[in-house]
Amino acid sequence: MLIDIHTHIQQFEDKDLSNLIINSRNAKIEVIIAAGTTIEDSKKCVKLAKEVKEVYAAVGIHPQNIYDDKNDDYINLFKELLKCKKTIMISEIGLDIQDNSVPLKIQKKIFIEQINLAKEVNKPIAFHVRNAEKEILDIIMSERLFELNSVAHYFNGTYNYAKKLLDNNIFISVAKPILRDKNLEEVIKKIPLNKIVIETDSYPQYFKKNRKRWTEPKDLNLIIMKLSEIFKIDKDIIIENIYNNSKKILNL
Ligand SMILES: [Zn+2]
Repeated sequence: MLIDIHTHIQQFEDKDLSNLIINSRNAKIEVIIAAGTTIEDSKKCVKLAKEVKEVYAAVGIHPQNIYDDKNDDYINLFKELLKCKKTIMISEIGLDIQDNSVPLKIQKKIFIEQINLAKEVNKPIAFHVRNAEKEILDIIMSERLFELNSVAHYFNGTYNYAKKLLDNNIFISVAKPILRDKNLEEVIKKIPLNKIVIETDSYPQYFKKNRKRWTEPKDLNLIIMKLSEIFKIDKDIIIENIYNNSKKILNL
């Protein structure tokens, strides 16, 4: 059994979504986390979790979407959404430094507010990092993230960075880049198997014309095969380890 610890499947259109769910059932995906990126998107995640057995919700404001939300009372809104038993994570939150990003000071404030929410409701977080490893590590230390179960979503950093995350009780989430990125393969090879989880980060990839090539939760199986090859460990043992890690984080 497999757990996709980070997706945005709530953003698929209904018809695509029902096929995606059928495909994931055929691929033995037991749990799919649908992670919100705005208040409205987080509401969609909770709605979907109520409708579909294997879908669980995560609520959060993505650092790129901070200005999409006009509601200062979002923490209380998230608390309402967290009353649903299937809302089990705070995600997708984090820091993202690019041209035209929301000012870092504001990103940090929103990130820390959501970390505090996670602590208050005792839920794990999954965080996003782009060009902000040093800034994230500062917050990991100052906000004592080791007190929570945290997931470094879509990990693609160096071993040095991974080591600092591991030292702070943070799990490394491996996604499809492992299938083609040799440097990443070398880093992941050195991560203890009891600190690895997997995700597809599935969202509607309209830029790929061939619908069959869109990433879906069923692709977790490709990541499992690759990990089995990297670690030279039987795929069933990889599945069992990762399943247990995910269940522990999610408190399922
Ligand atoms: Zn994501």
